[in-house]
Amino acid sequence: MITHATLHFNETGTPVADDFDDVYFSNDDGLAESDYVFYQHNQIDERLKSHPRRHFVIAETGFGTGLNFLNAWQRFDNCENRQAQALHFISFEKFPIRKEDLVIALNNWPQLKGYADKLIAQYPDALAGCHRLHFGDVTLDLWIGDVHDSLAAMNYGSQGLVDAWFLDGFAPSKNPDMWQQSLFDAMAYLARENATFATFTAAGFVRRGLKDAGFEVQKVKGYGRKREMVVGKITTPTAKANCLAPLRRMPRALKKVAVIGGGIASATLVHRLSARGIVASLFCADDSLAQGASQNNQGAVYPHLQADNSPSSEFFAHSFAYARRFYDSLLASGHHFDHQWCGVLLQGVKEEIVKRQTNLVEKDNWPNWLIHQVDAQQASEIAGVETPYGGLFIPKAGWVSPPQLVKATLDAACAQLNHTLHFNAPITALEKVGNQWLLQSGEQEHGPFDDVFVCMGEHSEQLLQGKGIGLQSVRGQVSHLAQSDASAKLKTVLCHKGYFTPSALGEHCMGATFTKDSQERDIREQDNQTNWQQFAGFYGDCEWTKELGQINGAKAAIRATLADHLPIFGQYAQEHEYIHAFPMLGKGKWQQAQPLNHDAQGLHLFTGLGARGLCTAPLCAEALVASLCDEPLPISLRVDNALHPARFITRNLKRGQIT
Ligand code: SAM
Repeated sequence: MITHATLHFNETGTPVADDFDDVYFSNDDGLAESDYVFYQHNQIDERLKSHPRRHFVIAETGFGTGLNFLNAWQRFDNCENRQAQALHFISFEKFPIRKEDLVIALNNWPQLKGYADKLIAQYPDALAGCHRLHFGDVTLDLWIGDVHDSLAAMNYGSQGLVDAWFLDGFAPSKNPDMWQQSLFDAMAYLARENATFATFTAAGFVRRGLKDAGFEVQKVKGYGRKREMVVGKITTPTAKANCLAPLRRMPRALKKVAVIGGGIASATLVHRLSARGIVASLFCADDSLAQGASQNNQGAVYPHLQADNSPSSEFFAHSFAYARRFYDSLLASGHHFDHQWCGVLLQGVKEEIVKRQTNLVEKDNWPNWLIHQVDAQQASEIAGVETPYGGLFIPKAGWVSPPQLVKATLDAACAQLNHTLHFNAPITALEKVGNQWLLQSGEQEHGPFDDVFVCMGEHSEQLLQGKGIGLQSVRGQVSHLAQSDASAKLKTVLCHKGYFTPSALGEHCMGATFTKDSQERDIREQDNQTNWQQFAGFYGDCEWTKELGQINGAKAAIRATLADHLPIFGQYAQEHEYIHAFPMLGKGKWQQAQPLNHDAQGLHLFTGLGARGLCTAPLCAEALVASLCDEPLPISLRVDNALHPARFITRNLKRGQIT
């Protein structure tokens, strides 16, 4: 579990870390020192003007108050004639400062106020792992946790990631655990060709360590009265991939792009493409958006957490935090969708669920702000109506209107770029012509496109040649129930086996059924009864449920899921391609015998979101686009591997189940 920084402010208003007995920035002029040591000595202004890639990546050890970040952001904004269009700032922080301390610390810099306010607005609650925050063309990846653990958790390829290192952190004598050879080595593994570093210290072992790691190292004049500091550069590439070859993602220059589908996956994908200036043509089979699994009136948004900090739990926890930032920023930019961040109560309606919930609490892997236990009385107070069950409460969760959310997301994307939207355009076939793709819609042909993203939920396999991806279809029906005066008092989402929402426009949503291997979307009276019986079975004795009105509507949709209940995104992968490229995988040898050539190069999948797309789609979309654009990923290596399209193939190859 992450611990916050304990600090005080000295007589000059500078924050001082109690455990390290060291200042976060210089008492004299911390901002000028930050600029001199880190920004200027990595020659960032000059390099931005001739940078060969769209994004320039800075990585920093020790986020602290974010002063280095804010300075780099302001300098990036003010840099004239820059070639780099985006700044990507990665920072590692073991002891994140509490938000209230951050506000006080940043009050020191009125000249950065506009930037500081934006950072404070998005500053994440403490949770180990990567928190990606967007500020227009500037992206911050705040990796919470020890820098050594975070570096080991990241996913990086053989080209490296980082253009400039800000080697900050408390003085080596006060923080010896951080200043280790393994840190210097990792800095080199992540370094792109010609990457630089700068650090305030000139300690001998730091210079030697960086040299041993592969940097050219040079002493220069320190800031103000300080005699020396150290700078350097990688001239011979030292980057080293930490992702096994079969699960490595390959970047592609995205030019002519088609997105097929009209739900939350397509909308978030087009949104994240927009953020990189990539125009898309979207094809939706229906006459309006969100007619598939995103069509419910109210959908709960909450993370699916297990007691253990498994890759799946890590994925859900961070998806949720990212989704909240994503949705809040849509609202802040004036887009509307009905929602309530009213919390979600996971009710302990059965003994086995109570046991599972107690186990989660005892293992203590998740912070209280994310999820905490409540007894039946507390649950009733939270709910505003009586409930006989305690449970786990997720205060930042809630519900949204999925169709309105999908529209708002796409509206926001279209406000940024001129995307083309095709409705009533069901794509029935894909044809590969050379390196490009033609899309068939009845008699009509669209394209050619270089890259096609299939985000068609349960229909996603229809356009794939070969064996497909093992998608399963699970039918779910949600019933709409008229509120009563008593039920209108419900003010949080109740999750029992299904869910029951606070009323919106006089109706509650109650669901959902779960019928495997069904693609039928007819409304069934029987399913309404099932929903009611399940709900009444748990809450039938509560006064507030007695006067509930009629079921006066329902929606049925198909959830597309995979065997491991995790989404899939990335290049469509097929068994024979992996057998050819990695013939020794069955013997535990990952070496590549042949280049991995995909038959369907440029055909990408983004599906398998199941019933949890409202929580997971934004982060998946961001990770998918980031990987193609050769940017740092917002998810850890283990999470990325768990979502990779070749995960089932490599697992089966390893087990010798396919040869
Ligand atoms: N760059 C910061 C700024 O602009 O405000 C100041 C950094 S402050 C001097 C050093 C930071 O390094 C502290 O926030 C501290 O918690 C963090 N830190 C120390 N050891 C660390 C470690 N092993 N992993 C990650 N962060 C660490």
